[in-house]
Amino acid sequence: MLNDLFVNGAIVIATISIGNQILINKEVNPYSPFKIKLFFSSMSGILGILLMINSVYIMPGVILDFRNIAILLSATYCGFLASIITAIYIATFRLFYNGLTYSSYVGALIALFIGIACGFVTNQDIKNRLKWIYMSLCVLLIPCMAFVLLINNQLLLAKTIAAYLISMSVVSLLVYHYVEYINFSKFTYRKYKLDSSIDHRTGLNNVRQFDNELNKITNGLTGNSIITLLFIDIDHFKKVNDMYGHQNGDKVLEDLSRILLSTSKVSDIISRNGGEEFSVLMTDCPLDKVYEVAERIRIAVQEHKFILLNGESINITISIGVAIYPFTVNDIQEIVQKADSALYEAKRAGRNKVVIF
Ligand code: GH3
Ligand code: MG
Ligand code: MG
Repeated sequence: MLNDLFVNGAIVIATISIGNQILINKEVNPYSPFKIKLFFSSMSGILGILLMINSVYIMPGVILDFRNIAILLSATYCGFLASIITAIYIATFRLFYNGLTYSSYVGALIALFIGIACGFVTNQDIKNRLKWIYMSLCVLLIPCMAFVLLINNQLLLAKTIAAYLISMSVVSLLVYHYVEYINFSKFTYRKYKLDSSIDHRTGLNNVRQFDNELNKITNGLTGNSIITLLFIDIDHFKKVNDMYGHQNGDKVLEDLSRILLSTSKVSDIISRNGGEEFSVLMTDCPLDKVYEVAERIRIAVQEHKFILLNGESINITISIGVAIYPFTVNDIQEIVQKADSALYEAKRAGRNKVVIF
């Protein structure tokens, strides 16, 4: 019996690990989209079925396994509806697995009952840990009613209930800690992933992400692709720092990033490539619109009143260097270098200008 219960426990852990890999980039909680909930609750339902297939045989029609852990998982991490869906999977399978008998009816009803009870607990406004405890109590105690109804031999009943209560308590505790550990790892993984691609000050792409995006674009080039790169540099930014302090300089950088976001399209890739250097990478800007777009950004910055920390407002200007593949550069690998040269030219020509390479 112990051996079979161990296999049951191993199936639970393996399924949670696989599910975590599949959903590593998805947010799983009671507010997730219906598709995610359906996927999670179906995975849990299948877990429940696998557990039943590998259950411990007690006597004809009576089996023992950890199927209800699947309902517990669905309820805790995906809410009421998911709890019910998983319970329906388990109840339906239990009903037909060993043929329609009194014990399969009882088993199916117990699963539905646990689904509703766990769903009810998960809807309460309490911490996950407390939810898990209340649900574990449902999962521990409700099936014991089934054992009482189905097993007449007093000794076998006592043994079965003891085995179930002890093993289920251990598994419930283990699964709770394992899932919490997985959630923590997932959170850390996502945080580092975000940290490695986002510029902290502005929330724009950092230079590493800019390189990744440019590589992606380079690899997906077609005969019709028009790739435009605007390289943007603040004019005399050192003076802003010198006159108003570094903190005000930082605030100007943050405000400028907002202007870039609001003057560009959602599909444009906007990055902070260095200290006071930014870029806008466009994949769908017609050639005759490029200058217009760059000028719109330049003028928006020129006319914006940048409010400093003491409430004072200042104006700044930017210079923009532009390179357009395949029109002003015929090798996409050179687009950065050419946009940079155009920017240098804009600075030389007096700043606050757009220069197309
Ligand atoms: P130019 O018109 O030639 O571009 O002049 P500039 O003063 O903008 O150029 P320069 O490259 O000489 O100076 C850039 C300045 O940007 C120097 C540095 O203090 C400032 N800077 C770079 N990164 C940051 C940052 O994160 N915060 C702040 N506040 N300033 C920064
Ligand atoms: Mg610079
Ligand atoms: Mg500058």
